[in-house]
Amino acid sequence: MIDKKIKSIIRPDLLSMKPYSSARNEFTGRARIFLDANENPYGSSFRGVTGLNRYPDPLQQEMKERITDITGIQADRIIVGNGSDEILDLLVRATTVPGKSNVITIPPTYGMYKVVADTNNVAVKEVLPDNNFMFSADEILKATDNKTRLIFICSPNNPTGNLAPTDEVRELVEKFNGLVIIDEAYIDFSGTDGFLPMLKDYPNMFILRTFSKARAMAGARLGTGYGHPDLVKVLNSIKMPYNVNSLTLAAALNALDREEIYRSQVERIIRSREMLTCELERIDGIRKVFPSSANFILARLDKPVELYNYLQAAGIIVRDRSGMPLCEGCLRITVGMEHENRILVNETNNFFDGKPAEGVKEQNTGLVKRRRTRETDILVDINLRGKGIADIQTGSGFLDHMLELFAFHSKTDLLIRASGDMEVDFHHTVEDIAITMGQALNELLGDRKGMNRYGFIIPMDESKAAVTIDIGGRNMLVWKVMFHDNTIGRVPASLFKHFFRSLADNAGFTVNIEAEGEDDHHIIEAVFKGFARSLKQAMEITDDKIPSTKS
Ligand code: PMP
Repeated sequence: MIDKKIKSIIRPDLLSMKPYSSARNEFTGRARIFLDANENPYGSSFRGVTGLNRYPDPLQQEMKERITDITGIQADRIIVGNGSDEILDLLVRATTVPGKSNVITIPPTYGMYKVVADTNNVAVKEVLPDNNFMFSADEILKATDNKTRLIFICSPNNPTGNLAPTDEVRELVEKFNGLVIIDEAYIDFSGTDGFLPMLKDYPNMFILRTFSKARAMAGARLGTGYGHPDLVKVLNSIKMPYNVNSLTLAAALNALDREEIYRSQVERIIRSREMLTCELERIDGIRKVFPSSANFILARLDKPVELYNYLQAAGIIVRDRSGMPLCEGCLRITVGMEHENRILVNETNNFFDGKPAEGVKEQNTGLVKRRRTRETDILVDINLRGKGIADIQTGSGFLDHMLELFAFHSKTDLLIRASGDMEVDFHHTVEDIAITMGQALNELLGDRKGMNRYGFIIPMDESKAAVTIDIGGRNMLVWKVMFHDNTIGRVPASLFKHFFRSLADNAGFTVNIEAEGEDDHHIIEAVFKGFARSLKQAMEITDDKIPSTKS
């Protein structure tokens, strides 16, 4: 028996609709020969993912199991969609009668709520919150009538960044007869669990989340919805049978294996958001930066349109939200990488100081590079003009320490995640890290225009290392380093030469390293330190040679 409340929410004729039954829907169990779906039995010529010749699982069971592990929500309460936008559309189609029903939105908010309502010929009633974007359940309930099927709440709200008030939401779901949809696309940046823990208490609560934001997969198109099983069943019955493709599922399952990257990126973005907020608040001309629980901030300022155009001319795109209700004078700024935020702040200062824009220097200073081979999977996120902040996980504590020294002394921000056969053999991992770092450096240094090009340094403690470098594009390593033992910190000593050779080869550096001392550990530390400092010197921009963006 269908839940009474859900029954009253669903468009009546859908309750008796017979859904399309796909070949894969009808068969469960084990089989060896699939001659049921008119597929090509041979594999596709695409080498990335196997099994593409077959249709994907229409109900995405494996994905749902993983989501259950993360959220604690059972599979029968989960729907997976081609972005959460698809699920928004399904919700409107499942609950409203075109030309008759209406829905409620609370502007300023995400524009797609109105678009999906409009495309389904469903009227939209707008209830404004107060000046701090807080709404009251009473006001919203007053706006409902017996044709109101849905209330859209966005928490954290786009574009204002604030979380919805919990008590008001609770009151709404308790008193409203239709469905309350809570869009939590940005919840990962809020430091809260959102409304998911309340889902079980309210059949008429529905929550949306997405892989597009914190999980860095906007291009894959994957969204999730959470609601009462009877409602989820109806949504599944009206969705396209194979709404999420195998490539997306494979990509998302793969990404979920590495939660630590997601977590560290979220932390980083939150930290940057707070920094950016602080820095923008200090600028005369910015009247208010609204507190944000998302990965963007809304700022009210003097001359928003002029600043928008000025930034655009300088190569920086933000979102003009000044035309939205209660957003007079407001721009929405997504939190970018650290160096991108610095450039934004700098140009905003220039604008309000009446100076011409410096423009984004042709050279980008930050880059994320990933290299996957059969043996290893390496992620390098590097910013050449950083503060020396390192976040390194290679599988070898000793190598982590060396790369931290490199970051600190070259003043690059460096994040590395390496997974591979480190336990078995250091060789592949060390080589692939060096290759990935080398390629990233080469790409970022570009044509080396305006840079010193050469570096020379002798750091000395009880060990001495002399490192010279020419980043000009030719690759060569001269290595005159004598170690006493075969391993240092459990890394085979010979691999360090190999590391610098692979790095020099891929970065286009000529590097000459000589080092000596009594203790291998100190010798190799001096080498990394020397290499870092020498590289820093070589990368330095000599002011008079800064490439002009005006030319
Ligand atoms: N909800 C909100 C509040 C959004 O801002 C966006 C995208 N900007 C979405 C949903 C859409 O997400 P998806 O990419 O999963 O369709």
